[in-house]
Amino acid sequence: MTAGGLLAGKASAAVAATGAEAPMPHASKSFGLQIYSLQQELYNDLPARLKEVKAMGYERLELAGYGKGKIGKVDMMEFKKMAEDAGLKIVSSHVNPSVEGVPFLRDYTKELTPKIMEYWKATAADHAKLGCKYLIQPMMPNIPDHDAAKLVCDIFNQAADVIKAEGIATGFGYHNHNMEFNRVATEEQKAKMKGNPFAAFMKVGDQIYDLMLRDTDPSKVYFEMDVYWTVMGQNDPVEYMQKHKDRIKVLHIKDRAVFGQSGMMNFEMIFKQMYANGIQDYFVELEKMPDGRTQFAGVKDCAAYLANASFVK
Ligand code: MG
Repeated sequence: MTAGGLLAGKASAAVAATGAEAPMPHASKSFGLQIYSLQQELYNDLPARLKEVKAMGYERLELAGYGKGKIGKVDMMEFKKMAEDAGLKIVSSHVNPSVEGVPFLRDYTKELTPKIMEYWKATAADHAKLGCKYLIQPMMPNIPDHDAAKLVCDIFNQAADVIKAEGIATGFGYHNHNMEFNRVATEEQKAKMKGNPFAAFMKVGDQIYDLMLRDTDPSKVYFEMDVYWTVMGQNDPVEYMQKHKDRIKVLHIKDRAVFGQSGMMNFEMIFKQMYANGIQDYFVELEKMPDGRTQFAGVKDCAAYLANASFVK
């Protein structure tokens, strides 16, 4: 706050003296960015691109593309140095477990659990070196029924212990898409619907996201709610934030494309609830731009949207 205030003061003095253009509206706001948003454009002269990201108003990064000590094709410690040189802090990272022979593991089993823990141990050690506060799994394993959900939750709890032991105190983070709002039903739940002429139109069983909230340990596992994918899963992110204040600790702020253009997202309510819950960290995320413009142009427009939004502090 003090540093920002000083910088803002200096900028105003310079403007007054030279009559140069007004300071950027986001001078007092700063945002986090999930680097997936920039796709491969980020790697076309990485040091310069990272500086552009900083100039847009972003100060914190959530990584994507980690594998074997690299982010994308760049050595992770070199990536960290370039980010720091640009004035960006690496706060978080998205990683999906892979085991020998299965680069992107979806089918969890009891037998594979030790291998999954080996993955988390090595991955958490690397991310502790990067200085990450959060280590987050962004993709759902296959969950066809309640038993699978229970096993996945047990594995998340165990992974949290491994991650904490490597020095990342927040534990295990989970990021959703829309498939977590699919339902799984027990035989008993299905039987109750038998003979009901409206069965095909009714919601039967439990949403997987609710099972995850129920069966993971609150002292170990937290949730990074992607507000767009929650809406795509026909649920209300604000309601979830109200109900699960202690579990949803990070957000992905996202729209179908550039913020505010789809009309699908009530960002004002989302930010209001985010501040009420005391959530400190959120990351802007942008899917592939639909209109042929660059990802950088879209990410810049998202920052401008937040900078100009009166509800964003
Ligand atoms: Mg997301």
